[in-house]
This record gives sequence, structure tokens and C-alpha cells, in this order.
Amino acid sequence: MNSPSPLLRLADGVHLWSPTPSAGWGLANCGLIVSPDGTAAWIDSPYDRRMAQDFLERSRSLLPEGGRIGRVIVTHANGDHLWGAEVVRGADIVATREALGHIEYEPAPKQLHAMVRGSDPETPLGWYLQSHFGRFDWADTEVVEPTTTFTGELDLRIGQVPVQLTALPAAHTTGDLIAYLPQQKVAFTGDVIFASSPDDPGDHAVHWAGPLDSVIAACERVLDTGAQTIVPGHGPVLDREGVRGHIGYLEHIRDRARELHTAGVPALEAARKLIAENAFPLPGLPERMVITVGTEYRHLNGGEDRPDIVAMIAVVAQVAWDLRQGCPLHSPPRCRTRRITFTARGGKSPPTVLVFGVPMHLFS
Ligand SMILES: [Zn+2]
Repeated sequence: MNSPSPLLRLADGVHLWSPTPSAGWGLANCGLIVSPDGTAAWIDSPYDRRMAQDFLERSRSLLPEGGRIGRVIVTHANGDHLWGAEVVRGADIVATREALGHIEYEPAPKQLHAMVRGSDPETPLGWYLQSHFGRFDWADTEVVEPTTTFTGELDLRIGQVPVQLTALPAAHTTGDLIAYLPQQKVAFTGDVIFASSPDDPGDHAVHWAGPLDSVIAACERVLDTGAQTIVPGHGPVLDREGVRGHIGYLEHIRDRARELHTAGVPALEAARKLIAENAFPLPGLPERMVITVGTEYRHLNGGEDRPDIVAMIAVVAQVAWDLRQGCPLHSPPRCRTRRITFTARGGKSPPTVLVFGVPMHLFS
């Protein structure tokens, strides 16, 4: 289980809530803005209610008597940045117009909860889901939909604190935004940046919408704001040099993926190869390379910017299963202990799960 997490002051009236542990699927950074007049807002919210309540209680300790979180700025619509907003019901939920559309596309919280709890831990997918998502509880979670959406730019004021929002072209997801506080020179980037350092190891970048050129352009827009303190979606806070280093890594992955695509190497094999190359070296959850490389390949093949999220997780699980068994580069027959075929439609359409070709109606 996660232990309670303290708030870290980044600048006057700007605080960071990071979950403990700070690395792993769904363990995202959140921001708290408190204006001198007591007006307050969140930037993102934790993945489940227990973590969100922890963030709320710690936020209240910095608010005046009777103060409330009046607004939640959502950097993108993945659940680990949005679902905790239900604990501040009544707040204005601000997101891009495309993020609103993305909500319908993801598995709903109760579907994901059932999928994690109902999966067989003897299979790669079940083992992976329970290892990485079993710590969360979405049994009663309802998604709070955005109440304010925008395209392009949106200037807000949280009391006396200006916040500049920039909607991005599809990068980590469709509907990402950057939130920049010009007075404090702090940027909240959401998941266009995943940070990691030797002192505070993070996880491998996972990008669903891409292509990587768009993610790199998003990172450069973060630098263009003039930010000196950069809060990534996951992992430790960065300075500008840290962002440049991350851009260099993304460029490396992009260039290698293109080389392998040109050489006719299939996407999954390319991802396994990049994991085995272990450039930089790799941070945690290296199996997420499958999604990031898969996204790049989808664009190189002229495909759409929306993958089948659950199907991708099933492949990621298989690769992690193989890595655990010491088979990073290929999936030789001895690694193929179980095979799962997963087809899914997210949001309000229940996914269909096929295990050994047999449908499992986990979501009815
Ligand atoms: Zn995230």
C-alpha cells in the first residue's frame, strides 16, 4: 500500500503532492496552487479515492478556514490524473476539448477495477494487472467530467495567481495540456514528460497517441514557456537541463524505431530490441517501450493516433512476463507459457476478453 505523502513547496503558493512510492503505473504527481487570498486549485488529481483524500486533507491544511479547492486543471484524461477529482465534487474541472472526448475512449474505473480483481494471476496479463494496479481501489469511482473545456490557449487566475494553459496536438494522449505559472516560473507538463534520476528513479515514458515528434515538440513548448521548475507527470521535478536530457532520450527512441521500421523489423520485435539495448540505461517499467514504439510504428504506417489501450497492456504484460523469465530480446517458446488475446473497446462499451480464445465476460 502507499504511505501518506507530504506536500513539497515548489514556490510561493505552489506545492507538489507525489505519491509514495513515487514510481509505478498510475503514481502521478499533482499540484496545489494557493493564492494569497485563499483561492485554491489542483493541477491533476490522484488515481483513486484514498490517495485523493490524502491529497485533499493535506491541501486543506494550507487553506484558510472554510477554504476549498475550487478548480481542478486536468493535464490529460488518463485516470491517474483525473479520477481523484471526484473528492472535490462541485469544483470547476478544466481540460482540453480533446481530453473530454478521450474519457469515453478509456476503460471506466469500475471496468478496470473488475478487470484487475477478476484476472488470473497465473497469466501474464493477470499477473501484470494485479502487480501494478492491485494497489488501487475504483470499486465506487465515478468519473467527474470536465466542466470547462478549451482549444488553443486559456488564461486563468487562481485568485491572484495567473495560470496559462496550452492545449497540445496529440502527444502522450489526445488532449494534453501544459499549465504554466509565469509568476513562479513553474510548469506542470502532465505526461508529455516522464522523469527519472539516479536518486529518484522513475519509469519509462509511455506514449499512446504520438508520434514521438509531437511529444518532443511538446517538451520544447515546455521550455519555450521560460519555466525554470518543471513538474513532470511522473517522477522527480526537473530543471531545464533535465528536460533537454529527456528530449535527447526521446529522439534516440524515435531514431532507432525509424531505423528498425525501415529495416522491416516488426514493432514488437523492435521494442524488445530497444529494451535489450538498454541505452541510457532504462528506468523502471521498460516493457512500456512496447507502447511507445508501437505508437511510433502506427504513425509510420499511416495509422490513427488512438490505440486499443487494453490490447496494448496485454502485450506489455507478455513482454514483462518474458523479461521476468530472462527473455528480453525474443519470446522463445519456453517463455510462451500462456497466451492471451485481448480485444477491447473502452469507455461505456464493455471490453471483450479472450483467454486462450475463450471469451471471459468479466464486465457484465
Ligand atoms: Zn500518468
